[in-house]
Amino acid sequence: MTDNRFLPPAAALIAALLLLAPRPAAALPDLVPEIYDATLGFDDVVEKTRGELRDDSGLHNLAVAAARTEAAGYLKWTRVEEIVYFARQIGAKKLGIATCVGLIQESRLASKIFRKQGFKVVSVCCKVGSLDKSEVGLGPEERIRPGSFEPICMPLAQAEILNQRRTDLNILMGLCVGHDSLFFKRSEAPTTVLVVKDRVTGHNPVAALYGCHFYYKRLLNPAQ
Ligand code: SF4
Repeated sequence: MTDNRFLPPAAALIAALLLLAPRPAAALPDLVPEIYDATLGFDDVVEKTRGELRDDSGLHNLAVAAARTEAAGYLKWTRVEEIVYFARQIGAKKLGIATCVGLIQESRLASKIFRKQGFKVVSVCCKVGSLDKSEVGLGPEERIRPGSFEPICMPLAQAEILNQRRTDLNILMGLCVGHDSLFFKRSEAPTTVLVVKDRVTGHNPVAALYGCHFYYKRLLNPAQ
């Protein structure tokens, strides 16, 4: 039986509806997220991770803080406010901002807000110590502007610098797809995201999902 206590309200509602749906899962309508099917038959995983949330104090604190943040700001707070609240809930004093150079203005504003809210803030730009793309084996056809110095971003350096500065919570500001992956792998502090890079939608990637039946139908019809 699914225990909905650990799900956000919307997910809990979907899970409850799914429990009422006829089985087998293959007969469920298209709108059922595939991730639901993927959770079936993984009781051992669910049990293990539930145990970790109870017994590992670090994970427990993050989980409780996340749930409290969701409840406290539900339908009231912007993500910026949620990050402030979450940071306080986990006892963070020093925040790290890992920013894309293209979002430097927004990162300055975020930094100003977090300082006004009483945090210390350390920021590192993605171009810190950057290498030309040729130094990692990328050819001219793999560049945006062939023939010129084109630096590759250094998310590992961003994470390491924030690790050395002993930040309590890191915040990503528009790192590219994949650069964010490298940052997540190397960051010692828990990391959340304030801005998700999407150059086409004004950093609102869900727009592609909302529009995939019309404006972005190429997504569902890759052969066209
Ligand atoms: S590669 Fe991505 S993260 Fe780096 S500067 Fe360009 S847009 Fe920003």
